[in-house]
Amino acid sequence: MENNFLLCPKCKGILNVEENVVFSAKNKDGKAGLIFLHAHLGNYTVLRNPQFTFESGEQLTFYCPLCNTKLRSDKHKNLAQILMTDKMDILYHVYFSEIADEKSTYVLIGDNVEIYGQDSKNYIDFFNLSQSF
Ligand SMILES: [Zn+2]
Repeated sequence: MENNFLLCPKCKGILNVEENVVFSAKNKDGKAGLIFLHAHLGNYTVLRNPQFTFESGEQLTFYCPLCNTKLRSDKHKNLAQILMTDKMDILYHVYFSEIADEKSTYVLIGDNVEIYGQDSKNYIDFFNLSQSF
């Protein structure tokens, strides 16, 4: 998965720095902080400043750190959406859960979806998979 770029869907800014994908986020109290997700899909390592606190199961709101666009998807209110390109310049839509510690990631290209994470069944019904099989 190296050479992939993760992009803001609005400003197309590149969000990954080496293996970190950088977001600004707010917790349920509206406190803002920076959060790093892992650039490898299916790796749920999360880095944050210890002063940016949230609890497991808490919904966060993710923003592009470059243009401040809210990244919430239109598939489900618990999912954020960004773009990914690979070295062939193919564009993928990446959806991931904004719920702290919930491991669900979906990668859409055309009618196909790749699924990652032990909690991926939570939102699978919001992706139209009928054409994938
Ligand atoms: Zn942006």
